[in-house]
Amino acid sequence: MTCTLCNELIAPGDVEMHHPVYKSHGGSQVVPTHRACHVAHHSTIGDFKAWGSIGGQISALSKRWAFNLKHVRAHPAHDINRAFYTAHYAH
Ligand SMILES: [Zn+2]
Ligand SMILES: [Zn+2]
Repeated sequence: MTCTLCNELIAPGDVEMHHPVYKSHGGSQVVPTHRACHVAHHSTIGDFKAWGSIGGQISALSKRWAFNLKHVRAHPAHDINRAFYTAHYAH
């Protein structure tokens, strides 16, 4: 399996699926990427900043890990994970 973003081989376990058309925009197709490339990609195009602004609208009942684990929820370093999770899996 090859990373769509950097064209290098991806080791099993380091694969993350990226939606070229965001799931939140109705996209269903996914392409394989490295986790690191994927995060860097969204970070580069400014998604996390935009997603952060809508984070407050997410229901507390969604029971996603990043919202519920105390140490994660309280830690600023995990803001990026929450935004990422929201954009890809919340719908
Ligand atoms: Zn990559
Ligand atoms: Zn993505």
